[in-house]
Amino acid sequence: MKKHNFYAGPSVLPKKVTKETAKALKNFAGTGISLASISHRSKEFDEVVIETQDLFKELLDIPEGYSVLFLGGGASMQFAMIPYNLMKSKAAYVNTGAWASKAMKEAKLFGEVHEIKADDFFHLPKNFDLPKDIDYLHITTNNTIYGTEYKDDFDVNVPVIADMSSDIFSRKVDISKYAMIYGGAQKNLAPAGVTFVIIKNDILGKVDRQIPSMLNYQTHIDKDSMFNTPPVIPIFAALQTLKWMKAKGGVEAMNKKAIEKADLLYNEIDRNPYFVGTVAKEDRSLMNICFVMSDAYKELEKDFLEFTTERGMVGLKGHRSVGGFRASTYNSLPIKSVKALVKAMQKFEESHG
Ligand SMILES: *Cc1c(COP(=O)(O)O)cnc(C)c1O
Repeated sequence: MKKHNFYAGPSVLPKKVTKETAKALKNFAGTGISLASISHRSKEFDEVVIETQDLFKELLDIPEGYSVLFLGGGASMQFAMIPYNLMKSKAAYVNTGAWASKAMKEAKLFGEVHEIKADDFFHLPKNFDLPKDIDYLHITTNNTIYGTEYKDDFDVNVPVIADMSSDIFSRKVDISKYAMIYGGAQKNLAPAGVTFVIIKNDILGKVDRQIPSMLNYQTHIDKDSMFNTPPVIPIFAALQTLKWMKAKGGVEAMNKKAIEKADLLYNEIDRNPYFVGTVAKEDRSLMNICFVMSDAYKELEKDFLEFTTERGMVGLKGHRSVGGFRASTYNSLPIKSVKALVKAMQKFEESHG
């Protein structure tokens, strides 16, 4: 049966990406050697890294003065690297849920954290005041677990650092408004294993502490992401996704498709009496669409999951901390998967009505 992959991460990738990566695992760039066995310092792989950086810069319109790095350790490693490299004494963190809390926890090892938080994680804090003496403001633009998303750039006069693990390349971002953007690649870009970091070079070198080489951004900038062996296979796959995005019309086209998919699904959630959205309407994510059974039908949750499983849908169970359902609608999820889910919701309503 055809599968519809709604997993939150690792998640769906374009067919072409898995196909090209599988091909390269047998014979990479005509070398007669597997991508898994070639030196990361070979000319052929060097070209992959350069092309991947170039496409990042092109698709995201990254201005001069920024470096694009491909590191290991996941977005979670960045939670520690950020304060290690950039926090002199104090930073502000917008706490919008599980990932933001984890980032904050690491920052507290290095200095004082000013926390900004809404009453619950189904709303986003907005129009908050910032202390004057902070080194940076950390935000999580898309909250993969709760399904909220800041869809506009922040206009503040402190350096902004953004975890964009789950919405990078899904909407236009003015990079010049950020000191750093980072994320694990396994949501919207590549298989797990590579972490992208877009960092403004001149924000570095301001802290006094000693930083171990591997955890120092400057090391990776100086060595062009080749200080140690980078995650070769995920980088290659990321390049295939970037090429796919470019061929489809780039970030603008991705955003248009994301809005179309999200509208389809949110409209059905709002129309169908069996379901209810969990997030404040203005804060709804375009990438992770969360909903639950409405109160009158709470006991049907398991039935609906089974109903969708029978129709080839996987990954719809909500995060264990939230429950209900979550449909992740990343760039590579075809619109026909969203249509299939909407149809399943309608059929479920009919069969119970
Ligand atoms: C998945 C996710 C992370 C964690 O990424 P890892 O690569 O597993 O460390 C961090 N932040 C956000 C917003 C995420 O969605």
